[in-house]
Amino acid sequence: MSRGDRRDTQWGTTPLEALLTSHSLTNRRLQRATAALPDYAILPQATVLKIGGQSIIDRGRAAVFPIIEEIVANLPHHQMLIGTGAGTRARHLYSIGVELGLPTGVLTVLGTAVAVQNANILGYLLAKHGIPVIGILQFTQLPLYLAERNAVIFPGMPPYTMWEHAPAEGILPPHRTDAGCYLVSETYGCRRMIYVKDEDGLYTANPKADANATFIPEISAAELLERKLPDLVVEPPVVEFLQRARHMTQIQIINGLKPGNITRALNGEHVGTIIHA
Ligand code: ADP
Ligand code: MG
Repeated sequence: MSRGDRRDTQWGTTPLEALLTSHSLTNRRLQRATAALPDYAILPQATVLKIGGQSIIDRGRAAVFPIIEEIVANLPHHQMLIGTGAGTRARHLYSIGVELGLPTGVLTVLGTAVAVQNANILGYLLAKHGIPVIGILQFTQLPLYLAERNAVIFPGMPPYTMWEHAPAEGILPPHRTDAGCYLVSETYGCRRMIYVKDEDGLYTANPKADANATFIPEISAAELLERKLPDLVVEPPVVEFLQRARHMTQIQIINGLKPGNITRALNGEHVGTIIHA
């Protein structure tokens, strides 16, 4: 078969191919055309569980051990991709870095190291259950680990490191572990994205700073952005990602300090706050 034949048959000019070969990738009609087919859900049974850095791991034994227990109890029933936050040590690094005038990309490299430390901590605590910690390069082996053990642990930071984009304001990395975990759940077409933190969910303001803050059980991403709350329980980019979601059209924020919440959320119960697209 000549090259010409092949182009006419196997690679025949579909409308999409015609657009892709004849327009710049910036072309809007081309971009719309690429969204016409449904995405393939890679791991539709898996749940991404983000274990907070400052909100959970930094609290040590009292917060972490019951969560480890609850994860282990759920291993027979749920596939879990366990992402870790960074927390207080990252904030310390950010304060030193900012004071020294170091740029966003460097702060991101520093914060990433802390998320890796927290992944290792959970890894040692779950080692006897055969749960591996995977770095970015091991994501290709993730399906095997999931099939074998039903869970993996990964550092929640997205691997932008030095290439992290500048934020709209200030210089702190805008895409941290909440964003990294969300992007994993969206890319793999997972079943749920659950944030395990130390508050019951989203409030009208930070409940630690404002006694009048009231609980919001459910809200859309658009409404949340519109309300311009003074502070949020998840990183703002996650709320924006939700609006462009092709799979993960809602996230759930739960209080991991209350035993049973993780199990209830894994089972699809509405505990905490649900933010939907
Ligand atoms: P993590 O360690 O999981 O990344 P963070 O400490 O970054 O968690 O975020 C969770 C914290 O966000 C809560 O402990 C709470 O004090 C704070 N927070 C700020 N704004 C809000 C809000 N509107 N609703 C609930 N919590 C909020
Ligand atoms: Mg955080």
